[in-house]
Amino acid sequence: MSLSDVQTRLAQAARDAGRDPASVTLVAVSKVQPDDRVQAVLDAGQQVFGENRVQEAETRWAHRRAADPTIELHLVGPLQTNKVNKALELFDVIQSVDRPKLAAKLADAVQARGAAPRLFVQVNTGEEPQKAGILPADADAFLAECRGPMSLQIEGLMCIPPVDETPALHFALLAKIAERNGLTGLSMGMSADFETAVAFGATHVRVGSAVFGARTPG
Ligand SMILES: *Cc1c(COP(=O)(O)O)cnc(C)c1O
Repeated sequence: MSLSDVQTRLAQAARDAGRDPASVTLVAVSKVQPDDRVQAVLDAGQQVFGENRVQEAETRWAHRRAADPTIELHLVGPLQTNKVNKALELFDVIQSVDRPKLAAKLADAVQARGAAPRLFVQVNTGEEPQKAGILPADADAFLAECRGPMSLQIEGLMCIPPVDETPALHFALLAKIAERNGLTGLSMGMSADFETAVAFGATHVRVGSAVFGARTPG
């Protein structure tokens, strides 16, 4: 378990960038990890976790969150519109608002529940056809739509850069889109590049394998 190692590197990256280490939240992405590893990280004091599937998150976290309301859970993977209500029960933060239909569904659900989750809009900075997210050219209009007619409060932006490209360019692009839209939250950086992301202003880094160990496939 290398939680403390990641915490140390994260704090150092923040100081190197002239930033307060407290301005960056470590989201420990526990998807697919064996439960004993997750419990060890929880026992070590980590309180913010990310999952990419609603069903898996429910199995792993529903009972833990019932026992400990200070656990904060982020959805970092795609959300089907028929699972919006379940997701709102389970997650404090939805980082994957990636299309108008989902935003509309979230807006309806927020109205009905009278309580709003924290939301990040996912931007497909690499314009990859297989990847979810709003295209950079459409981001301003989409954000205006969310914040205007849909009355959704948006905290920030999230991106997953293409695996074969320099992440820094994507982090810089995301930061630029956020800045011109007056958004302060930036969820970017994973195990391989969270220090770079912090240099570009990340407020949330989503780190899985560097915290928990490699995910065993299958
Ligand atoms: C799995 C995942 C992560 C964590 O990836 P690591 O490389 O293991 O740190 C971060 N963000 C998203 C959206 C993920 O699906």
